[in-house]
Amino acid sequence: MIHNEERKAEYYKALVEKKSDYEGIFYVGVTSTGVFCRPTCPARKPKYENCEFYETAQQALLASFRPCQRCRPLSHPNQVSDMIRVLVEAIEQNPEKRWKGQDFRALSIDESTARRQFKKRFGMTFVEYARARRMGLALKSIRSGEKIIRTQLASGYDSSSGFRDAFSRIMGAPPTRFDDSRILKAAWLDTRLGPMIAIADDNELYLLEFVDRRGLEREVERLRKRLKAAIIPGQTLPIQSIERELTDYFEGTLTEFKTPLHLVGSDFQQRVWEQLRQIPPGETRSYADIAVALGKPTAYRAAAQANGANQLAIVIPCHRVINSDGELGGYGGGIARKEWLLSHEKSGK
Ligand SMILES: [Zn+2]
Repeated sequence: MIHNEERKAEYYKALVEKKSDYEGIFYVGVTSTGVFCRPTCPARKPKYENCEFYETAQQALLASFRPCQRCRPLSHPNQVSDMIRVLVEAIEQNPEKRWKGQDFRALSIDESTARRQFKKRFGMTFVEYARARRMGLALKSIRSGEKIIRTQLASGYDSSSGFRDAFSRIMGAPPTRFDDSRILKAAWLDTRLGPMIAIADDNELYLLEFVDRRGLEREVERLRKRLKAAIIPGQTLPIQSIERELTDYFEGTLTEFKTPLHLVGSDFQQRVWEQLRQIPPGETRSYADIAVALGKPTAYRAAAQANGANQLAIVIPCHRVINSDGELGGYGGGIARKEWLLSHEKSGK
């Protein structure tokens, strides 16, 4: 979401004036209706205070907005492909569905054509689109910090609730009664590199990831299955602590993350993550360096895998590990963020 007030004012003006030269520059999420639009949408314009501006359609989807039926922000202006319309509508009818080959065949749509068309026009594949919409719905209550789950926990669950479906598909069904299952709390943190999700109990932080990270859904699933936990929206001390520390980190005033962490992984993964924490800010290591430091010089591939399995972005600095040839290598949160983090840390030295 765009927070800069001047930028927001500029975009709002463009929205009211339906300026076509802002097409593709921003999307507007309307909090009063839950839809997102392109700048030139013919519908009545929302009030300024109900507008949230996004740079990409994917960001608007992850923030739980659905595409507007009138301006169809997921189609090129004046060029609505039937296939795209069919697929977007299918998702709205069943946003929780995970798409498989047979689902495309049932609609007589070629999966690879769908992938190409979506990618070309919206910068994401259809499956990524479906995932962003699904995650957006699941994250909705986390983003708004809604108390709804707590109310439902107290009053017993309506099993037909669509909310429960969208949310529990990813976050685990909260217990219908207070029993001995573990509860973790999840919160939405806006950072200058985009929104993050933090998951913690009362004592430790378990997960910190960018909301648009590829594989986040599986990561959350793995976490809650391993811990036999359900995740509900809320705040805990570690979440408040990491939020403060991230603010300081982005301002360049943080010396060390002190929020207590809970690392969920194999022994080897845990050892790799401990190594990562030894890399000082402003420096980098290669995957081979990490393997050597662990006394297993041939295990650099395993080290790279463990690096990628890190669930505590920024705090466990997997972004400080690069290829031996000096290339940046991969990053779950996207290569642009890795680059930004490294140059931010370098300039703070
Ligand atoms: Zn619209």
